Amino acid sequence: MHHFNYSGGHLHCEGVSLETVAGDVGTPCYVYSSATLVRHANVIAEAFRGQSVLIAYSVKANGNLAVLATLAAQGCGADVVSGGELMRARKAGIPASKIVFSGVGKTAAEMALALEQGIHQFNVESAGELRLLSEVAVKVGRDAPIALRVNPDVAAGGHPNISTGKSGDKFGVPWGEAEALYAEAARLPGIRTVGVDVHIGSQIGDLTPMRAAFEKVVTLALRLRGQGHDIRRIDVGGGLGIPYKDGDAPPPPTAYAAMIAEVTAGHGFEVILEPGRVIAGNAGVLLTTALYEKQAPDRTFLIIDAGMNDLIRPALYGAHHDILPLAEPDAGHARKTYDVVGPICESTDKFASERELPEVAPGDRLAFMSAGAYGAVLSSAYNARPLVPEVLVNGDRYDIIRRRPTFEEMTGLEHVPEWLTMEA
Ligand SMILES: *Cc1c(COP(=O)(O)O)cnc(C)c1O
Repeated sequence: MHHFNYSGGHLHCEGVSLETVAGDVGTPCYVYSSATLVRHANVIAEAFRGQSVLIAYSVKANGNLAVLATLAAQGCGADVVSGGELMRARKAGIPASKIVFSGVGKTAAEMALALEQGIHQFNVESAGELRLLSEVAVKVGRDAPIALRVNPDVAAGGHPNISTGKSGDKFGVPWGEAEALYAEAARLPGIRTVGVDVHIGSQIGDLTPMRAAFEKVVTLALRLRGQGHDIRRIDVGGGLGIPYKDGDAPPPPTAYAAMIAEVTAGHGFEVILEPGRVIAGNAGVLLTTALYEKQAPDRTFLIIDAGMNDLIRPALYGAHHDILPLAEPDAGHARKTYDVVGPICESTDKFASERELPEVAPGDRLAFMSAGAYGAVLSSAYNARPLVPEVLVNGDRYDIIRRRPTFEEMTGLEHVPEWLTMEA
């Protein structure tokens, strides 16, 4: 469910024509729908009504301050994976008491920052991290509330590159070592054990692997309680899939919530959720302009002004994004099959192969749908292209929430050593 629809012959985001935004801001640019973000946050909150739950939005899906502030206003917390994301969440108004810190590579400086801020929970991913966190906590003089992220050895996720819960993945503590590590945590100064954490992957289209993982986690949590650990929280991570194209039917949040209620029933756990894609994915589009059509012997290339540096999901995961023209094609509009490619000097800079679209002319504008998560956050300035701007729509109004940098800003951090300028 999202708020991108044709109205009066033009694709709109809520009450704003995307042609208007493209004309004003230029392309490529991302456009997000406030109403869709809010709706998704509320649908999840509704689904979990009656359960004790913290919705810790996964900042890495889309960390723009205005997006975070929109979700903060809905009561969302944050799941962060770096000190930078922690500061973003705080700056956007998310209280530290609603922030959990995940990730396999936390540094001592990041730990100290999070302790000083007073975050809700560290999701600890290794023995080494646990020991360092203990040292830092003692130094800072604050106990670190921790859950160990366990690796349940369950395969899940829409692509091998986004599976995180198999035994060969780098994430989490090996299943067989979890209990010994909890015992060590109990002995370490500065460490306060509060829960168990798991996150098995992303773009998961089926509840079966999630249920299998959560059942294992609850069993472990109860066993840990039996060993005297104060396990109050189960953090189930994120990973719920979204529809990217017709026919995709990921489990609805209600079914997800019901499954979690069933698996955790009767034990008084606080449930922590870390949804990312399911909140932001269908709340954003990437606007682009067609530049050229180029005929090869066996295919037609449609060359557009967005590249893999702006939206890397197709190149990285073979991901599918629907492509819609901003001007609504009429019933008789010709159709044509294209390879849709960007301007980057890489063969993987391809958004779609043999995609049938309403025929496109140079200058026509298009939207990549479902680009709100893992879009702008993964963008780069490769090929010296300016970082792609972002726009937030709210009803009939919109604002630029990250503008396109100037050439001076893009090169402003660089410095040519004096010895080069002197010899020149
Ligand atoms: C990426 C990530 C999430 C969010 O995943 P989605 O698939 O976007 O819901 C949640 N928790 C952790 C630890 C993650 O790494």
